[in-house]
Amino acid sequence: MLRREMIKALAAVPLLAGAAARTGSAGADGGPLTTGTTARVRQNDPGWPSLAQWDALRQQTGGRLIAVRSPLADCHSAPDGAACRELFRDLKNPYAIGDHVALTQTTGWVDAWTSQPSVYAVAARDTADVVAAVNFARENNLRLVVKGGGHSYLGRSNAPDSLLIWTRWMNAIVAHEGFVAQGCAGSAAPQPAVSVGPGAIWGRTYNEVTTKGGRYVQGGGCLTVGVAGLVLAGGFGSHSKQFGTAAANLLEAEVVTADGQVCIANACAHPDLFWGLKGGGGGSLGIVTRLTLRTHDLPNFFGGAFATITAQSEGAFRRLIGRLIAFYADTLFNPYWGEIVTLRPGNRMDIRMAFQGLDQQQAEAIWRPFFDWVVAAMPHDFIYQLAPTIRSIPARRRWDPAFLKAYVPGALFVDDRAGAPTDNVFWAANLAEAGHVIFGYESLWLPAGLLQRGHQEELADSLAVASRLAPVELHFQKGLAGGSESARAAARNTAMNPKALDAFALAIIGGEGPPAYPGLAGHSPDLAAARKSAAEVGSAMAALKRLASDGGCYFAESNFFERGWAEAYWGRNYQRLAAVKQKYDPAGLFFVHHGVGSEAWSPDGFTRVAAGSR
Ligand SMILES: Cc1cc2nc3c(=O)[nH]c(=O)nc-3n(C[C@H](O)[C@H](O)[C@H](O)COP(=O)(O)OP(=O)(O)OC[C@H]3O[C@@H](n4cnc5c(N)ncnc54)[C@H](O)[C@@H]3O)c2cc1C
Repeated sequence: MLRREMIKALAAVPLLAGAAARTGSAGADGGPLTTGTTARVRQNDPGWPSLAQWDALRQQTGGRLIAVRSPLADCHSAPDGAACRELFRDLKNPYAIGDHVALTQTTGWVDAWTSQPSVYAVAARDTADVVAAVNFARENNLRLVVKGGGHSYLGRSNAPDSLLIWTRWMNAIVAHEGFVAQGCAGSAAPQPAVSVGPGAIWGRTYNEVTTKGGRYVQGGGCLTVGVAGLVLAGGFGSHSKQFGTAAANLLEAEVVTADGQVCIANACAHPDLFWGLKGGGGGSLGIVTRLTLRTHDLPNFFGGAFATITAQSEGAFRRLIGRLIAFYADTLFNPYWGEIVTLRPGNRMDIRMAFQGLDQQQAEAIWRPFFDWVVAAMPHDFIYQLAPTIRSIPARRRWDPAFLKAYVPGALFVDDRAGAPTDNVFWAANLAEAGHVIFGYESLWLPAGLLQRGHQEELADSLAVASRLAPVELHFQKGLAGGSESARAAARNTAMNPKALDAFALAIIGGEGPPAYPGLAGHSPDLAAARKSAAEVGSAMAALKRLASDGGCYFAESNFFERGWAEAYWGRNYQRLAAVKQKYDPAGLFFVHHGVGSEAWSPDGFTRVAAGSR
């Protein structure tokens, strides 16, 4: 968003907020709000709470206040020691990272942020713990952070000198046959649903809902991402073209607001907050302590189509991209197909597509013309590095760890810590991101108009140019064009950028390196490589932006340095989101990088800034 437009949008907020006076239990008579806060307190400031005050919070939360110690401390004192070696081993295990209060999945982003532990954390077990922590942070003017799955690429779930609410152990999963949101009896029919604690991760949720329960719930691809963080961001999974975004499937949330009140938000109670939670991004409007999501009937089958093709020349690669685009537009641009095609430097195309509702023969028949065309030009133009493989499985086995370990052993890794649950598995495809350091990362929604005959050539040209510089991932399931009418209709009633509805895919371009921390002997990020990679990512994305300069991008998967982030993440919905923020958190207790209302704060979230100075 242009600075001018952002200021205009914000200027309208108090009026909107005033027009929509708060009602019901959500803090109308709640605790004091420190509306005058201009600077939050740091650990070494005189205003930092005394040990006695921390002790009182510890008692209030049943002993669940933790003084956080980073395992990095061992590395600083003994970089070659056993503890440091173990830390770097654990950083390749997403479960080990998730179970550690001081760690995050991304260890940092060169020139943007480095994962830093909070001073204290409340390892919350119930809503009362969250209320106590929110009240304590507000009353003591602290920087507050909330972490669930810890998978934020943008460093939104860690901050130094902060109090962390860690929801990892609030992970109950309860299925309902006929759920009616509170206050909606009479206006909404009972429907199948699942209530999930904010610390639950998707792998366990799928195992409960699909493997054990025979139903479908819309979540994300990565099994160790947190349910709350994904739903609040919007949330796309392999089959979102059919079932919609995760946010659009939210039926109700229990939320602790900035005034420490527990609020039920749904279509009938606090509908403004409910709408804001559906894609407005985690960490800005309140702390969610329970989410209830619609569940769907399972299709008969899920499956995937895989191949890796290398072209023998740039010309052949350009033809391959053109063919893929035409094939996608004619055959796959519908609710059955999602997931990723990656175009890589070196003229390589990785096809990793997923489908729902088709059997093996149907899926094979769909892909035959494309693969026949490739084979006809082999070996002169193309070679297979991975020959086409199409697999369809009974839907109920889609996320069944035992089945997957036996049927597609190479596709999964296990949590190899002693005593780890056998269901702790993760996709091999997500290994690179465990503990990684980001060098550069950007996303862009590609409008469906680019698939029309007259535009396919320029799309293929731009993809060819971009993929010479950096790997270009086309995440087809993260654009809702071509999706089912129900998926698209439900998404219209969320805070996400409406551009997602008109996009056939989200293009993601990124560069990354292994786990590393600045200043750590033997484990520092390679800054020269990182900055070169960041420049390549930027140039590659510039080639795509020539096609869709205002396409917008996805809050959870975007550039830390995104200019005009409010417009890019939410489009015309930002003004309404800002009004929800003003109503439920006028003092700005909740802050995340480029979150709703964050323009009122310094980049680290500690100092309030004058309007227009950021
Ligand atoms: C390997 C990997 C794969 C991914 N795959 C997908 C994908 O397939 N589809 C997709 O849409 N996204 C995907 N993402 C992005 C992911 O959905 C977001 O990063 C998401 O926000 C992570 O949620 P989390 O709980 O794991 O992370 P956290 O870092 O714990 O939280 C993320 C944000 O949500 C806030 N938050 C967390 N819990 C709460 C709560 N209870 N109440 C309020 N705010 C809260 C945090 O403050 C933070 O701002 C992926 C990310 C990674 C790292």
